[in-house]
Amino acid sequence: MSTPEKHEFQAEIAQLLDIVIHSLYTDKEIFIRELISNAADATEKFRFLQTSGTAVFEPDRPLTIAVSTDDTAHTITFTDSGIGMTRDELIENLGTIAHSGSKAFLQQIKENANNPSIIGQFGVGFYAAFMVATKVTVFTRSYQPGESGWIWSSDGVSNYEIEPGLDLNRGTKIVINLKEADREFSRAQHVESIIKRYSNFVGYPIELNGTAVNTISAVWTRNKSELTDTDYDEFYKFIGHDIDGPLYRFHFNADAPLAIRALLFVPKHSLEKLGMPKSESEVHLYCRKILIQSKSKGLFPEWLRFLKGVVDSEDLPLNISRETMQDSALMQKLNKVLTSRFLKFLEDEAKSDADKYAEFFKEFGHFLKEGIVSDYTHRDALAKLLRYETSQSETAVGIADYISRMPEEQKEIYFITAANREACLASPYYEGLKAKNYEVLFFFDPWDEFVMDHLREFDGKKLVAAERSDIALEPTENKLDDTAARLLCNFIKESLGDKIGDVRVSKRLVDSPAVVVESDKGMTSTMRRIMKNMNRGGEVPFKHDLEVNPNHPMMVGLENSRKDHPDLSKQIAEQIYDNALISAGLLEDPQAMLKRINSLLEQLVTK
Ligand code: ADP
Ligand code: MG
Repeated sequence: MSTPEKHEFQAEIAQLLDIVIHSLYTDKEIFIRELISNAADATEKFRFLQTSGTAVFEPDRPLTIAVSTDDTAHTITFTDSGIGMTRDELIENLGTIAHSGSKAFLQQIKENANNPSIIGQFGVGFYAAFMVATKVTVFTRSYQPGESGWIWSSDGVSNYEIEPGLDLNRGTKIVINLKEADREFSRAQHVESIIKRYSNFVGYPIELNGTAVNTISAVWTRNKSELTDTDYDEFYKFIGHDIDGPLYRFHFNADAPLAIRALLFVPKHSLEKLGMPKSESEVHLYCRKILIQSKSKGLFPEWLRFLKGVVDSEDLPLNISRETMQDSALMQKLNKVLTSRFLKFLEDEAKSDADKYAEFFKEFGHFLKEGIVSDYTHRDALAKLLRYETSQSETAVGIADYISRMPEEQKEIYFITAANREACLASPYYEGLKAKNYEVLFFFDPWDEFVMDHLREFDGKKLVAAERSDIALEPTENKLDDTAARLLCNFIKESLGDKIGDVRVSKRLVDSPAVVVESDKGMTSTMRRIMKNMNRGGEVPFKHDLEVNPNHPMMVGLENSRKDHPDLSKQIAEQIYDNALISAGLLEDPQAMLKRINSLLEQLVTK
């Protein structure tokens, strides 16, 4: 007998194992899910190869997954007849961190300083076995006819051993020697309940000590009428690795232009919103129940990456290579059909249950907005799905609703961006629209202005920032006549100098003395704020104009007193401008302003 070769784990694996072994993780049982899912993956891969005509070792061996427990030896064993591994694959797959799941996990652990609950969410895959094992032994033989068998073993601490294994069947057998504290996993009854919980839908029989335990069902291929909510939820929990049920499910068949069976789910929560890294689509592509591509890229646009589920299309050629799959015309066609159908589904849901849709929009609305900004194809359908609070409605409504309430003479759709509802209502940009009784969409996220910038119109009506609207109130007898108002504007412009573009009389202010308006037609104060942040405080190459209210007592007073008190009036003009900047969220230097306010107060008390 040859002596086994010793190999060191790659540093990251050693680190991962250390975390896995030492975490006080309560759901240790997920190692069963992980090993069965690996066995199912290996079996699917084998079936795929065999179906596409590849020569295989032991072609007639049945495709089952067997779990056996030994309560005396305290072991649990997982056996599959899948593709197995060659010696190189053993080293690559079980000794390095090339595969995605564990990599993402390590990343998360680094960012979430030791929060072991995410083990369950990400799955550390094969290494989960070391939560319960004193030793793991892997017997494996590749499907490739010219290969031989190998035995891999490790205590999960620093290194592993590999030696040749004689007379092995095709596939993989993993024997786990359990830690004393984890001997419950060698009790058949306990293991059975875990398999049922996690692996009920695996497309191959799972036998526990010789008896099949899973209900084999590719739920998406069955008729809606045969399926219960529980069937769907369990299927979702299994494929979505989620403890909760889904928020939405969408099960549909199509015959033209492609034969599609799809079962799609929207989770209750967006992990990205919770601060997790950009998620990967978890929609798997099947052809007649055979896995073509898991986490299929290209099946949906990026901005629908929160979807989970299964798409099965008989029109997919089985032997298509996975690499070319992504770009194929067929894939693009699938993408278009699926995306349109899903957006239509959301539109219907929004109509039939607005509260539930509001919940969805709160979690996933920003993905739809991302779609509007990044993808022209579905822009109009996406625009219908937007929901905003408005000046008239504290519950968010769609833009179509807004339009249905527009008075006849109103031609454009208006919006305001501010931190919250109160700030929108108090905005000087809202005054004129309020006086005209025009409804205004309220944005609490500056990002929405970019969304509008891409949409430009809805149903033929322009989307216009309130501050950019050329709304004019009915002309009234102003407290300052035209000449006096013009002279005041000139004075303010002189006082402020180059800091500002034009100063003019406003036709839309009611309560505020003055308001800043961007001189560039394409700009708004919100965009200026965003540009400034991106520039890290650098100058934005456009100036503001100032519009002044000819009816405000402050303006009337200023015009009357500026000749007698030129210095004080200049300070007041500067303060009026700063106040307008504050109101637009654009004031940069409060220190300079404080000095001026103190000086003004001083003049007031010593008068
Ligand atoms: P993942 O399943 O996310 O790729 P795992 O840690 O679960 O990560 O498994 C690592 C790799 O080891 C798999 O990608 C696969 O290549 C290989 N592997 C694990 N279990 C088996 C098995 N039963 N048969 C064949 N290959 C396996
Ligand atoms: Mg795995």
